[in-house]
Amino acid sequence: MAKIVCVLYPDPVDGFPPKYARDGIPAVTGYPDGQTTPTPEAVDFTPGELLGSVSGELGLRTFLEERGHTLVVTSDKEGPDSELERELADADVVISQPFWPAYLSKARIAKAPNLKLAITAGIGSDHVDLDAAIERGMTVAEVTYSNSISVAEHAVMQILALVRNYLPSHQWARDGGWNIADCVANAYDLEGMNVGVIAAGRIGVAVLRRLAPFDVKLHYTDKRRLPRETEEELGLTYHPDARALARAVDVVSIHCPLHPETEGLFDEKLIGEMKRGSYIINTARAQIVDQDAVTAALKSGQLAGYAGDVWYPQPPPADHPWRTAPHNGMTPHVSGTTPSAQARYAAGTREILEDYLAQRPIRDEYLIVDGGSLAGTGATSYTAGTGTAPGVSA
Ligand code: NDP
Repeated sequence: MAKIVCVLYPDPVDGFPPKYARDGIPAVTGYPDGQTTPTPEAVDFTPGELLGSVSGELGLRTFLEERGHTLVVTSDKEGPDSELERELADADVVISQPFWPAYLSKARIAKAPNLKLAITAGIGSDHVDLDAAIERGMTVAEVTYSNSISVAEHAVMQILALVRNYLPSHQWARDGGWNIADCVANAYDLEGMNVGVIAAGRIGVAVLRRLAPFDVKLHYTDKRRLPRETEEELGLTYHPDARALARAVDVVSIHCPLHPETEGLFDEKLIGEMKRGSYIINTARAQIVDQDAVTAALKSGQLAGYAGDVWYPQPPPADHPWRTAPHNGMTPHVSGTTPSAQARYAAGTREILEDYLAQRPIRDEYLIVDGGSLAGTGATSYTAGTGTAPGVSA
């Protein structure tokens, strides 16, 4: 029988379950590239429920306990006295969401001799030291595509919010003002601007598709070029690297995974080479940009705005500079954990567990590490040496 340790974010401050704003969510049955949504044998939750917080338990308790397995759910994840660290001693499986990551460092993996499977309920497994997982022969799996569209919607929202100066204007309204000039002095139309994505994977392409109707000039860079039909359909300009793209556009939206090639990519030098008054939106991973360089550029006006939902560490300290930097539109890490996304990644987590516990192969597209090497989606999106990324704290 297996012991599964599941690290989830805390329940809402007003209690669980919350009072939901809507009575249901639309059923999504497939992804744009033809991949099917998760196919577990069954689920024990109603789509639209809050599943990602501790009491939601990703809807896994009945399924696991009926089969004799042990499920421990906690949000206590930091430091040697945390419940996570105590439970690691005999854990077979650790499940974690990037929004409240259970950092599985090399040291922690060493403290978990039985650990065979780390599941990311969502996308992005940089909170796991992938090199250490490879060395140990562990499997690392994530629910590929489960929240890609959720993130794309958030990125487009934040691009518009920054460029149109939405948040300060809303604040004037809340504060009882009618300060048109203050609101519009730094508000622009997106129409006609050059907008580029760093990486045209599942999220990056979804962002490009959603922006195309705004009559912007679209740019992208990626390790591999998109098919020519897609470039023509969306009118895309391809750049061989992030530097070339960043210099050419007004708005950059970042959508690559965090690994050694992308860590610290937007540093002081690259941000300094962008047009004055550029905008950066980063819903990928915080360490892809230099935190202090972004803060300084917001203060100097080199950046007209920075938004996104990814921070390091998570949760960030109360005095994290991005909480108060001028022209920032940051949210906590929420874009990929709407109830719509939760329904898909909870079902995908269950699908992975069903396969793992029945000793069946896990879907190839869900694999990041398997059999002692990067595998599946991990083999294309990540690079060796991933364990050196600072996303994995001791
Ligand atoms: P995909 O795997 O579909 O896309 C990633 C893309 O990045 C691939 O096209 C890959 O290229 C490309 N890439 C990798 N390295 C580089 C590089 N050095 N330069 C340029 N391109 C590169 O993943 P998703 O689009 O679904 O997700 C992307 C990332 O977004 C995740 O890794 C995660 O960090 C983040 N994310 C954030 C969420 C949130 O809630 N904020 C939720 C979900 C994801 P190729 O495969 O062609 O080699």
